[in-house]
Amino acid sequence: MIYLNKIIKSYEVGGHFLQVLKNVNLEIDKGELVSIMGSSGSGKSTMLNILGILDSYDSGTYRLNNTLIKNLTEKKAAYYRNQFIGFVFQSFNLLSFKNAMENVALPLYYQKVNRKKRNIKALEYLEMVGLRDWAYHMPSEMSGGQKQRVAIARALISNPKVILADEPTGALDSKTTMEVMNIFKEVNDNGMTVIIVTHENEISKLTDRVIFLKDGRIIDREVAIAS
Ligand code: ADP
Ligand code: MG
Repeated sequence: MIYLNKIIKSYEVGGHFLQVLKNVNLEIDKGELVSIMGSSGSGKSTMLNILGILDSYDSGTYRLNNTLIKNLTEKKAAYYRNQFIGFVFQSFNLLSFKNAMENVALPLYYQKVNRKKRNIKALEYLEMVGLRDWAYHMPSEMSGGQKQRVAIARALISNPKVILADEPTGALDSKTTMEVMNIFKEVNDNGMTVIIVTHENEISKLTDRVIFLKDGRIIDREVAIAS
């Protein structure tokens, strides 16, 4: 499903280049539930953003669902993002002036699905995350856990190949963290590939495989635990 080969990524900072990903190789199969761990600055978000086609890379190859994701125009990138990716952010990124249903429906708006159809589907996805009764509430009226469930429904509505979540429970207490993880578990049980960046052991313990990043490189579990 996901195949990274010798990925190198640098950022230009103050006239010189900072290498953030240093020869990253990674394979993730369809249906896996994977977590990515590593200290702050190790390159987790950079890697996830590349996987999510939100950022480009300098060299190497990235294949997603047998499609080469490389040197894409913004239009092509948006197309593949829409087709393949559901992204969940730590800060939810909901539109504050839209209610829960409209937020969930947003990806379908970009796919030019008409309002009636997309709202019906949004209600189904809200039901799935246990928030059918909150459809007409604004984000400001919802708790952090509820907002994240809305964001997950939004990520799922276009039936992506993979869900990418960057510290999705970083702003949540432990009870709502478990609610959110249960949703990820459930969609993974139904065959969706799920990749979660986290620094919480309680989260990574719930995943099938943990990938450790250190200073832009993937390291072995034993090395990660020893350091
Ligand atoms: P993590 O998510 O593991 O905390 P990041 O991938 O966000 O790490 O960042 C890795 C490194 O890249 C850090 O040193 C960070 O400062 C740097 N970095 C990230 N994004 C940018 C950017 N847009 N411009 C310059 N440097 C960046
Ligand atoms: Mg990060």
